[in-house]
Amino acid sequence: MKFKVLIADPIENDCIKKLKTFAEVKTLSDKNKLKEEIRDADVVIVRSATKITKEILEEAKNLKIIARAGVGVDNIDLNEATRRGILVINAPDASSVSVAEHTIGLMIALARNLIHANNSLKEKRWEKKKLKGIELRGKTLGIIGLGRIGSQVAKRAKAFDMKVIAYDPFVSENYARKLGVKLVDLKTLLKESDFVSIHVPLTDKTRNMITKRELLLMKKTSFLINCARGGIVNERDLYEILKEKRIAGAALDVFEKEPPFDSPLLELDNVIVTPHIGGNTVEAQKSACMIVCEDIERILNGRPPRNSVNFPTIDKEILERLKYVIPLAEKVGVFIHRITDAEIKKIEVFVNEDVEEEDLKIITNAILKGYLSNIISTGVNILNARVLALNRGMEIIEGRKELRFNGMHTILVRFMEHELIVGCHYEEQRILGFDGYSFNMPFEKNILIVKIEDRPGMIGKVTTFLGNNNINIAYLQVSRKKKIDEQMMIIITDQEVSRSLLEDLKKISGIKHARFSRL
Ligand code: NAD
Repeated sequence: MKFKVLIADPIENDCIKKLKTFAEVKTLSDKNKLKEEIRDADVVIVRSATKITKEILEEAKNLKIIARAGVGVDNIDLNEATRRGILVINAPDASSVSVAEHTIGLMIALARNLIHANNSLKEKRWEKKKLKGIELRGKTLGIIGLGRIGSQVAKRAKAFDMKVIAYDPFVSENYARKLGVKLVDLKTLLKESDFVSIHVPLTDKTRNMITKRELLLMKKTSFLINCARGGIVNERDLYEILKEKRIAGAALDVFEKEPPFDSPLLELDNVIVTPHIGGNTVEAQKSACMIVCEDIERILNGRPPRNSVNFPTIDKEILERLKYVIPLAEKVGVFIHRITDAEIKKIEVFVNEDVEEEDLKIITNAILKGYLSNIISTGVNILNARVLALNRGMEIIEGRKELRFNGMHTILVRFMEHELIVGCHYEEQRILGFDGYSFNMPFEKNILIVKIEDRPGMIGKVTTFLGNNNINIAYLQVSRKKKIDEQMMIIITDQEVSRSLLEDLKKISGIKHARFSRL
């Protein structure tokens, strides 16, 4: 019997032909009939239009694979699919070249005033003198995020004889060197670049990565390009900076709210905008489609997926055994990402002596998944996280120790100069230690870690500061070590502590260090 594939959004004929070689293919007859027609499908293929919601999945009793012929999976209820053991696959690399080419296109359009030139001539104005451009040759391009797209942009910029520098704390010097790119810190990149191009994923850490403060570091003659995601650049700040002509211009393919019809940025002359079309090419669409079709064939033949977004292929028994530990481990990964500023080169993971080898591997993978999901834009799952980490040059050490605290499943992790101990008892997750200081408090929400001098008044200074800034404290613990005149406070707050607030907190005398993590 052939597998049944339902095509819910339009895909290329070549892909349909390919699917027909191994499956029975049906195209959705009417988008209102999805609920009905998905009932006997083994596989459903979508682009971004069709929404695979919980309601739809309730009907899809036979469904084994949801294939997204593209990158983002926002239109799929991932949690529900995972809970039901349905594999979700996508094609994360399909549009990299298209987005890179669009970025270069925008860069040339900015350098040569192409949009203005086109518009003014069509309005019967011959503005030859006014429209003097600049060459790309010899200019510095600063790439923020040297991943799949950033690297393709770098290669192309080199062909224009540009000097390429990049800020990406998560890639190695060696990788950058091979691309002919020099790695620098963000400040240097902003100060030195003639064009700054953003290619990081949108995460808690990159949201508002570029605000007024960063834009003011740029040269008055430089340009900003964002073909990544809206929200990475603070649009209100960008508007002010462009209006005051503090930078020469910007090109935006993505916006905080799409479509951005209400955005005042659309009114500015020194902004070029496109409607999120970076990856919108014939080739990218076709290749996304082919990539998922090939993956569907592999999976239906019993082989592991190339690009799975979730992880229902782990043994059900292990998943059941670790059902409270895996979410804790993933959270540990997120926590590590939030409190470190550069890629961790080495991670040590310890669990209790009686934990099976197989379970230890899954726990480590879950930590790596939590960590890498915030660094790599898509496609990290509990199965491929280890390979991805090893590919990035990370050293992974795993072991067992006598750890159990009050009967809890306990995980001890070392990364950079830190040591974190957490534990869980069913769904209750606790933080038990950090950098040698002991605690026992919830591992949740907003975690503020402050190191203070061990002297009267310090705790009050911190709590008053938080109170004055409308940050409510949910839990607070203070811990001290013998013979050290420092204490550590862990404070769980109801509100997020912003980057600038954290900087202000660090300025208070007697505060040695402060870190914040939102889980
Ligand atoms: P990727 O995961 O391959 O690369 C992202 C890079 O950013 C990684 O090298 C990572 O190390 C780096 N990074 C992560 N956090 C960082 C931080 N805080 N500071 C500096 N660097 C950081 O992703 P990609 O496929 O190259 O996609 C890049 C962006 O392009 C994403 O935002 C994606 O959503 C977007 N995108 C846009 C379109 C479009 O149509 N405009 C299409 C596809 C992708």
